[in-house]
Amino acid sequence: MQILANFINGEFLAPKGGRYLDNIEPASGKVYGQIPDSDEADLTLAIDAADKAFPAWSAMPLEQRADILTRISQRILERLEELAAAESKDNGKPLSLAKMVDIPRAASNFAFFAHACSQFSSEAHAMAGSAINYSLRQPLGIVGCISPWNLPLYLFTWKIAPALAAGNCVIAKPSEITPLTAYLLGEICNDAGLPPGVLSILHGRGADIGAALVSHPKIKGLSFTGGTATGKAIAQATAGQLKKVSLELGGKNPALVFADCDVDKTVDALVRASFANQGQICLCPSRLYIERPIYDRFKAAFVEKAVSLIPGDPAQVECKFGALVSQAHLNKVLGYIQLAKDEGGTLLCGGEQVQVPGRCAEGYFVKPTVFEGLDNSCRTNQEEIFGPVVTLQPFDTEEEALVMANDSQYGLASTLWTSDLARAHRLGEKLETGIVWVNCWLLRDLRTPFGGMKGSGLGREGGLEAMRFFTEVKNVCISFI
Ligand code: NDP
Repeated sequence: MQILANFINGEFLAPKGGRYLDNIEPASGKVYGQIPDSDEADLTLAIDAADKAFPAWSAMPLEQRADILTRISQRILERLEELAAAESKDNGKPLSLAKMVDIPRAASNFAFFAHACSQFSSEAHAMAGSAINYSLRQPLGIVGCISPWNLPLYLFTWKIAPALAAGNCVIAKPSEITPLTAYLLGEICNDAGLPPGVLSILHGRGADIGAALVSHPKIKGLSFTGGTATGKAIAQATAGQLKKVSLELGGKNPALVFADCDVDKTVDALVRASFANQGQICLCPSRLYIERPIYDRFKAAFVEKAVSLIPGDPAQVECKFGALVSQAHLNKVLGYIQLAKDEGGTLLCGGEQVQVPGRCAEGYFVKPTVFEGLDNSCRTNQEEIFGPVVTLQPFDTEEEALVMANDSQYGLASTLWTSDLARAHRLGEKLETGIVWVNCWLLRDLRTPFGGMKGSGLGREGGLEAMRFFTEVKNVCISFI
């Protein structure tokens, strides 16, 4: 039984209240560890440590701060195998995915922001003959970072790295469902020479320690990634303090497939995109609109490929499709599959839980699932399922596809599949999503703004957007008359 601890002031501490939560392996359904069920007493320790660390950390020469972040990145890569195994066990994702994507990306996040802080500059505005204005961008102080369970270390570090690079101290909370790599990050930070108190990592429930972190008056900014309902609750909880908040929330992402696309390539790409991490990536397309002349061909090829993704033990090297993250999430996804049937959808493949033999017999596995014949306005097509469930719908005109794609409370990411460049530009302007990918998916340049519109969030992460979020800007005006 693995017992985790909070990381506070460079030390691993048991929760002050002595309470723990079970940590369950999704692939086996078995409890394999315990994590602190932290409360305000633990938060107070972390705040005190951050308060002490902030003056020296924020004043540290940029090169030194960048060196420490670079060392964290290197240590993550040195421990890639161990971290990937931990992520796969905690989350149920294929080990190969954790090795290829999650852990290398966590390392890149630190490496990228180690450079970004040395390239971050501010503006000057000259008033001819009379004065010069310049902007100072200073760290906020102590900030909170809260991340979800789907890409645990990847998203945790996507927030922590820019916050630290900008000179803030950070108190971070991973999801209680996937705490293991966040715990190991504490060891890595000590090893890389991050001064005590600069980063604290508290484990526990969102509704308890998460909510306490959000509302604490010493937390000057909060970067949150998670569900839209939680994001709205956080916006309400912080409004009274006028706290700076960045919210990266849910999605219901459309894919628009035109008859002039490369059909074989598009099918390959969209099967990967729809079912990567068992459909548990906020960017996965889940509403696929296909131009009528290629609908039948696309459907047959898509279903054939989806069926070939066989759920299996995520720890096996050859596994491409693992477990859903928890029993509660499995129930939610199965509930939506039933709803799609009740709403009159035709099931093309999947649609059921599967038992993977051996050690995974009690795990949370669902087959890749595809429906057609559902109206765009039904709940299946409007609500985020966040699992391996997609719907196919034909369309006749570009305008019709656009209206259906934009008919959503969400606005995170869309994909567009066409060889018509003019169409790509036209729709790129009109799609109501923070990200538009044309003939690709999840092609990421860390300098670009990342985030959603409408119910998918407020603010943007990535590159200089993140550096701006984690700093307060001040204008200094000097008269020389
Ligand atoms: P949740 O909103 O349930 O939880 C996200 C994080 O917030 C967890 O650490 C959770 O802790 C914590 N939390 C829960 N309630 C509170 C609260 N009241 N105050 C403070 N913190 C709280 O989301 P999930 O973990 O279920 O993640 C899935 C969601 O995340 C999906 O909607 C998905 O689309 C979205 N997402 C968005 C991304 C984006 O970039 N836009 C990227 C990835 C995911 P605990 O787990 O302990 O409850």
